Amino acid sequence: MTKSKTCPICRKPRSEEFAPFCSARCRDRDLASWFNEGYAIPGPPANPEDAVRDED
Ligand SMILES: [Zn+2]
Repeated sequence: MTKSKTCPICRKPRSEEFAPFCSARCRDRDLASWFNEGYAIPGPPANPEDAVRDED
């Protein structure tokens, strides 16, 4: 059983530089999909202004 060497995002031949993706664009797109799925990593608020407003 051989693994396909294609980008999981767009199915184009992947690049070794961005493996397993074909480009930085697809890599970023994969990361974005993870965030959308709710896998956001712990960290400071994305919008500091919103946190400041909380004190009002
Ligand atoms: Zn791709």
